[in-house]
Formats: sequence, C-alpha cells, structure tokens
Amino acid sequence: MQPATLAVLAGRGRETGEPLNRPPVFASAFRAGGEHDYARAANPTWEAFEEALGALDGGVAVAFGSGMAAAAATLDLVRPGGRVVAAASAYFEVRRLLEDRENSGRLTTTYVDPLDTAALLAAAEGADLVWLDALANPGLDVPDVDLIAAGLRRGETKLVVDATLVTPILMRPLELGADVVIHSATKFIGGHSDLLLGAAVARTHDLAEQLRRGRTSTGAVPGTMDTWLGLRGIRTLALRIERGSRTARELAEHLVRHPAVRAVRYPGLAGDPAHVPMQRLMSSFGAVLAFELDRAAHADSVCARVQVITHATSLGGVETLIERPGRWHPGAVVAPGLLRISVGCEDPGDLWRDLERALAAA
Ligand SMILES: *Cc1c(COP(=O)(O)O)cnc(C)c1O
Repeated sequence: MQPATLAVLAGRGRETGEPLNRPPVFASAFRAGGEHDYARAANPTWEAFEEALGALDGGVAVAFGSGMAAAAATLDLVRPGGRVVAAASAYFEVRRLLEDRENSGRLTTTYVDPLDTAALLAAAEGADLVWLDALANPGLDVPDVDLIAAGLRRGETKLVVDATLVTPILMRPLELGADVVIHSATKFIGGHSDLLLGAAVARTHDLAEQLRRGRTSTGAVPGTMDTWLGLRGIRTLALRIERGSRTARELAEHLVRHPAVRAVRYPGLAGDPAHVPMQRLMSSFGAVLAFELDRAAHADSVCARVQVITHATSLGGVETLIERPGRWHPGAVVAPGLLRISVGCEDPGDLWRDLERALAAA
C-alpha cells in the first residue's frame, strides 16, 4: 500500500463492534494479569500511534514525549566513550545535546559536511553512530542517505536520520539503509501546532526494545492526549504535505522573480542544490522553503508585517509560519537575512499577496 493509504488505515481496531478509532486511554495503572500493567511502560493510545507510524516508515516505532526525548534516547545507544559523526547542519538542539554529552565525557563528536559523502564515510570509520538530517533545518540540504548507508559498516556504525522535515510521506530512510529514524511529531505529523511529541522508528525489534527500555527507565514518555492527536494528525499527513508542497513551489517561483529577494532555497526549483538528491530520494519536495533578503532588519520587518502568515518559530502546522532562523543563532552559520517559511493549507494566492505586501512595505 502507498503511504497515503497506510496513513488512513494503520493503527485501527479490527474487531467486530470496535470503534473505528482507538479511543484515548487515560490510565496510570491497569488491572493485573493483562497486557498492560503500569503506564510508564506502555499505553494502548501510544501503541495505536506507534503502529501507524511504524507502518508508514517500515519499522518499529517508539513514541516519546518530544523529538528531543527521542533523540536523547537514541544517543543513549552509544556506548560510554563512543564516537558520533554528526552533520554540521544537524538540528541545533541535537548539536547542543551532543556538546553536553561530550562535556560530561560520555562520547565525542566529529562534525562533517553531510554533502561530502566521501569525507563523511572516511570520518565514520570506526564510529559508533552517524547522525544526519534528511532535509536540514533551516539549511535545506539533502545528503545522499542511500550512498552513506551503503558505505557504513553494518552492525558497527548505526545510521540515524532525523526525518522531521520530510516525514514518511516523502522519504522512508529505513528502506535506504538507516537503522533509526527520528521524528519531531510536534511538526508535520501532529500538524496543528498544538502538541509536543516525538518518535524513534527502529529497523529491528531489538533496537526498538532498547529504545523502549530507555523510555521506561528515564520516563521520557508521551502523553495520552498527545499521541491520540498525533495519530489524528497522521490521518491527513499525505494531504497536508501534498498541499504544502504545491503551494511552497508556487511561492518559491514568485520569490525568485521578486527584486528584493537575493536568493531562494526550495528543493523543487530545478537549480536548487538539493534538487537532484531530493528528486532521487524522495517522492516530492516538501513544504518548507527559505529566501534571503539583504539585511536582518529587512527580514524582521517582513515578519512584523505579514497578516495571513504568522510570525512564529516551529513548522509543519496547517498554518503558514515565517521566521528568521538567524535570530536564534546570531553570528552563526545561518545568513542574517534568511527567512524560512513552513507552508500550511491556506489558499496560495492569499499567501503570496500577503508576502508581496509585507515585502513592499518592508
Ligand atoms: C523540532 C525539531 C526537533 C526537536 O523536536 P521537539 O519535538 O521540539 O523536541 C528535532 N529535529 C528537527 C529537525 C526539528 O525541526
């Protein structure tokens, strides 16, 4: 079955008389003798969400309280004193987590350019884990996940791919050879900017069991309501990604022609650096784009003037969001005038008119 069908069918009850959707189960404890006992270990609502996400990604999903909780549990798989090779463009909070763990002597990290496959593989020789983002946030770079997976020593070096910006609708990293996929379900999977949720999807039951053990012992568990809403989000994931991708392309094409815009990054544009790898590895180009204005002040002014689009951090919701990622990392890798847009489900014409007005006024 195709992802759009799985997103609708997976994680449901199949018995006669059962509700079509598994209802949220609010419980900390279950009567003894059954499948569930204490709810820090498992909850039927988490399991419905995990079943659906696991089916979509082709692996075994373990839900966590946030994307970062899933990332932390996955890094716990690294033996004490182990070595991680991470993309220099990995999500900033993941880099901070790696730094903290390096400072406390638990592991060491080598940062690499994820687009230089040969250099990455050379650095990964003897490493315990390689950490990549399928589509970097906010850099929108796409590494050759399949070639990297093929070049790593299976069983020695685990490949972890953060697929938050692409979701299983665009890419299934496990099929390309990854060992664990990380999702911040806070973003596209939840899809409505009203919850925090994460997941790690493992290639094997053994890896999933290790992640589950970590979740139970650290208590990095998701809430019942959040996993229930997360599964509701999955039902429309394919539709939302499809709509967002289409509108993102339209906005990118308008922006390319705008005189105030220095550069546009959207992998769907033929000349974009991510176009070729994304076309090869993914089914579409996604709902996130970025463009650069000459100055930070100009970019901030656009954020202050949009009315249909909302100025806020985060991404992946039905509402289109704009932000200047450089405001979080002054003087860092991100260009100061860069604006990122996460495209939602509004009418594309309304979005462009809003952006055009804000650009003119700024
Ligand atoms: C948001 C995000 C995370 C962290 O997820 P939370 O749910 O906020 O903890 C990790 N990776 C990427 C790429 C993200 O965008």
